Amino acid sequence: MTYKIAIIPGDGIGKEVMKEAIKMLDAVTLHESVEIEYDQFDWNSEYYLQHNRMMPEDGLEKLKGYDAILFGAIGDQRVPDDISVWDLIMPIRKTFQQYVNFRPAKLLKGLESPVKVRGNKPIDFVIIRENSEGEYSNVGGSMFSGEQRELAVQNTVMTKQGIEQVTEFACNYARNHDLEKITNATKSNAIIHTMKFWDQVVETVMEQHKDIAYEKYYIDALAAYFVQRPEDFKVVLASNLFGDILSDLGSAIVGGLGIAPSANINPSKDYPSMFEPVHGSAPDIAGKGIANPIAQIWSLALMFEHLGRKDIHDKILSSIEELIAGKSRLTADLDGTASTEQAGDELVKILYK
Ligand code: ATP
Repeated sequence: MTYKIAIIPGDGIGKEVMKEAIKMLDAVTLHESVEIEYDQFDWNSEYYLQHNRMMPEDGLEKLKGYDAILFGAIGDQRVPDDISVWDLIMPIRKTFQQYVNFRPAKLLKGLESPVKVRGNKPIDFVIIRENSEGEYSNVGGSMFSGEQRELAVQNTVMTKQGIEQVTEFACNYARNHDLEKITNATKSNAIIHTMKFWDQVVETVMEQHKDIAYEKYYIDALAAYFVQRPEDFKVVLASNLFGDILSDLGSAIVGGLGIAPSANINPSKDYPSMFEPVHGSAPDIAGKGIANPIAQIWSLALMFEHLGRKDIHDKILSSIEELIAGKSRLTADLDGTASTEQAGDELVKILYK
């Protein structure tokens, strides 16, 4: 089978790190028994400035024909963030029903966590975030603009189907990866309608998966536990807003943005899923050739796992671990002196020496 990949490098360092991911993709295609075809799309802020839209009218229709989307980063000071996000990333996530956002928080060998880990246990957990509704719905509005009584309302939308499907994904992920426990991030003591409903539906699904242990923490306590005992978590299940915040905390305790990957997944595979680094376009370092390509290349690895090639995922991840352990070809964010290109070249060299 030939996999068709759509590549959107985006803005700033997105373009620089994507170059290295494509290098890795080419090397994998050359050395592994996998056939890949890819097309690149220049849908970014520059495209917006020229066409007054982030992608062509039939952009989503074009993407629909691909097996996966590899995304870089978007963001440019000349284009408001709400346009670049709501006219490109959000339509892709919503139209393609990418209702799971998946982020590993794994402390790679050779990296030191800013938090203390008890008994040298590994930090290795994943955050599974509901990605299509919850607190990030656009149901709401504002009234009485400019008056003393001005107000704004934004509603949280929780649906039984939405909560069930993300919980099912978490259970399947736990079982397929021999992870014994799911931790539910909640706040049902204070958010008594939507979060209580969230807990109730999560727990009903968990009843059907008795082989997986279940625990529930209020989000404030859980944030503290991430710092105090991150080694205790395996699969953390969270709503859209809670998952968003927890995943940045998760990446901070395992080495920072330069190495943090993510996936927006449509588990049914009816539509393409999208794989992207957590970081943005980083205008402060864009154009200098010093961005760390690991987050983008790890996102590529997650794409292979989603396509059913966990073997390739594991190989890429081992090469990232070897690069970090070797220390000589790391970028500045990991205290090295290598360029983006040198780090990318070294990763390919490690994998196919
Ligand atoms: P955006 O507005 O597009 O999200 P940003 O600069 O506000 O961009 P990020 O790009 O997410 O936010 O990252 C914040 C900072 O972290 C960057 O300014 C940069 O200094 C650093 N950073 C992010 N990604 C990388 C990377 N891959 N390599 C090195 N440093 C990085």
